[in-house]
Amino acid sequence: VKEKGRDSIEFFNEEMADKVSRQLVMEGDLHRALEEGQFELYYQPKMDVISSRVVGAEALLRWKHPTKGMVSPVDFIPVLETSGMIIDVGQWVLEDACKTLVKWSEQGLWHEGMKLSINISPRQFRRAAFVQDVIDTIERFPIPPNSLDMEITEGIVIQRVEDAIATMTLLSDKGISFSLDDFGTGYSSISYLKRLPVSTLKIDQGFVRDIIVDRNDRVLVETIITMGNLLDMELVAEGVEEAEQLAILKAFGCHFYQGYLFSMPVELAVFESILRTDQQR
Ligand code: C2E
Ligand code: CA
Ligand code: CA
Ligand code: CA
Repeated sequence: VKEKGRDSIEFFNEEMADKVSRQLVMEGDLHRALEEGQFELYYQPKMDVISSRVVGAEALLRWKHPTKGMVSPVDFIPVLETSGMIIDVGQWVLEDACKTLVKWSEQGLWHEGMKLSINISPRQFRRAAFVQDVIDTIERFPIPPNSLDMEITEGIVIQRVEDAIATMTLLSDKGISFSLDDFGTGYSSISYLKRLPVSTLKIDQGFVRDIIVDRNDRVLVETIITMGNLLDMELVAEGVEEAEQLAILKAFGCHFYQGYLFSMPVELAVFESILRTDQQR
C-alpha cells in the first residue's frame, strides 16, 4: 500500500509539473500574442425574436495562433485569468470594441438602440482601477451613447454585492449597461437581482439546448423569462440552434436570442455584411 501510495504521489507530481510547465509556455505565447496582434474579436449577432432583426452583437475573443491556428477562448481565458494577463487583454478587448463602434457609427452601420456586448472577467471587474480605466477609454473613443454593454457573471457580484453595485452604478452613469451572463447556472437570488443595475439576463445555453426534450429545463427557462419580464429586464437566450427552440422561447416571452440558428460568431467583415443586409430589409 505504501509503495502504491508513493507511486501515485509521484504520478500526481509529474502531472502537476506538466500542467504548470504547459501553463508557463502558454503564458509566454499569450504575451507574444498581445504584442504581435494575434488577438481578434469575432461578433455574434443578437437578434430580435419577433422581428428577426439584428439588435446588436456580442464580441467574442479569438486567438489566431501562428502555428496552432484558431485557439478557443475556453482554452486560454483561464490562463489569462490565473496569470493576471486578463487585465491587459481585457483592456485590449474594450479598446478594440470601442474603435469598432466608432467606425460603425461613422459608416452608418450602427443605429440608436443597438448594443455591442463585451465579456468582463471577475478579475477585471474587481480591480480598483476598473471604473476609471473604462471611463478614460470610452472618453478617448467617442462611442455612440448607450452602445456598450458589459456581460458579467453572477459570481462576480455575489461576493461583494455593495462593491459590485457601486462599480456598476458609476459605469451606468456613463451609459454602459450590464447583462448577467450564463444566468441560471449560479446562485440566482432574486433578492440581490432586484438591487443590481442590470438591464439584461442571458439565459445559459445549457438550458436552451434541451428545452425541447427536457421538461425541467423548459420549466426553468419559462420561470426565468417570467421573472425577468416582471422585473422589467431584457431577456436574451443563448445557444439557440433550432427553430423549434426559438418558437418555445418566443411563446414564453423572451425578447432576443443568439445562436447558430441565425449565425455563429463571425469575423468583423462578415458581421458588417450581416449588418448591411439587415438594414436593406
Ligand atoms: P459566453 O460568454 O457564454 O459565450 C457564448 C459561447 O457560446 C461562445 O463561445 C459562442 O461562440 C458559443 N455559442 C454561440 N452560439 C452558440 C450555439 O448556437 N451553439 C453552441 N453550442 N455554442 C454557441 P466562445 O466564443 O468559445 O467563448 C467561450 C467563453 O469564453 C465565453 O462564454 C466567455 O465566457 C469567454 N470569453 C470569450 N471572449 C471573451 C472576452 O473577450 N473576455 C472574457 N473575459 N471572456 C471571454
Ligand atoms: Ca457572454
Ligand atoms: Ca453565456
Ligand atoms: Ca460561459
